[in-house]
Amino acid sequence: LMQISIPLNFIGFLYREIRQGLADIETMFDLLLVPAEIKDLPGAAPLSAVAGQIVFKDVRFHYDEDRPILKGIDFEVPAGKSVAIVGPSGAGKSTISRLLFRFYDVTGGAVEIDGQDVRNVTQESVRHAIGMVPQDTVLFNDTIAYNIRYGRPGASEEDVREAARMAQIHDFIENLPKGFDTEVGERGLKLSGGEKQRVAIARTILKSPPILILDEATSALDTHTEREIQSALDQVSKNRTTLVIAHRLSTVVNADQIIVLEAGEIAERGTHMELLDRGGLYASMWARQREADEAEERLRAAREHD
Ligand code: ATP
Repeated sequence: LMQISIPLNFIGFLYREIRQGLADIETMFDLLLVPAEIKDLPGAAPLSAVAGQIVFKDVRFHYDEDRPILKGIDFEVPAGKSVAIVGPSGAGKSTISRLLFRFYDVTGGAVEIDGQDVRNVTQESVRHAIGMVPQDTVLFNDTIAYNIRYGRPGASEEDVREAARMAQIHDFIENLPKGFDTEVGERGLKLSGGEKQRVAIARTILKSPPILILDEATSALDTHTEREIQSALDQVSKNRTTLVIAHRLSTVVNADQIIVLEAGEIAERGTHMELLDRGGLYASMWARQREADEAEERLRAAREHD
C-alpha cells in the first residue's frame, strides 16, 4: 500500500505543479518553450541599475534556419518612453517581444537593456525587470486576490486593492458575492477575456517592473471594455519603458514612436501623425481599419434598428 500511495501522491503533486505552471505565461515559457540551449553564461551577473532603456541592434532571428523572421531590426526605446510595433499578421511583432524577454537568443545582432546585452546577464534578472501582459491570460485556480498578489507575494491587502483600482477592475470584484476571495480559473468563476486581462494588469502594477511588454488581445473587445483596458494600460505604462505589440491600430495613436514591421523589416517609423502624413503602409492600414470600424458600426446600428 505504501509503495503505491507515494507515487500516486507524487503524480498528484506533479499534476498540480504542471497545471499551475500552465496557468502562468512566464512560467509556461520557462517550462516549455525556452529552448534548452538558452543558459546563463558561467558567472553571469544580474542586470544592474535598470532604468529601462531598450536597444535592438541589427537584430536577426529565425526559428527555422531556412526561414528568416527578423532581418536586421534597429530601434531604441529610451527609458520611460513607449514604442508600439504594428504590421501585418506574421510580420514578426510578437517575436520581438520574445527576444526582449529572452525566450530565445538572437541569431545576429544584439538586444540590450541599459547597455547590457541580455545574453551576458542572468535570465532571472531580465525577467524580473520586465512585466508582461500577454494576449491571453490564463489565471491560477485560486482567488482573485491570489492572482493579483502573485505580482508581488508580500503585498498588503490595501496594495492589492489599489492595484485593482488602477487596473479598473476593483468595482467589478467588489460586486462579486465573495469579493477578492472569489475563486477563479477553471474550477471557479469564469472571467471574460477583458476581465482576465485587467487582472493581469493589476498583477503587473504590483510587480512594478521598469519595463513593460503589452501584447494586445487580437480578439475584438467591445468598445466599452476596450476603453477600460486602455485606461488601465495608460496607468500602468506611465513613466515605464513600454513596448506595445499592437494587433489593432486604435491603441497606438499616443505612442512616442510607432514602428511598422513588414516581413521582418522595419518599413516605416514615426509618430501617428508623421506616419499618416507619409501616406505609406501605416496610412493605408489606418484607412482600412477605419473602414472596417465604420462597417461594423453600420451593422450594429442596423441590428439595433431591427
Ligand atoms: P500576429 O499579428 O498574427 O500575432 P506577429 O507579427 O506577431 O503576428 P510572430 O508571432 O512574431 O508574428 O510570428 C512571425 C513568424 O514567425 C510567423 O510566420 C510565424 O509562423 C513564425 N513563428 C512564430 N513562432 C514560431 C515558432 N515557435 N516556430 C516556428 N515559427 C514560428
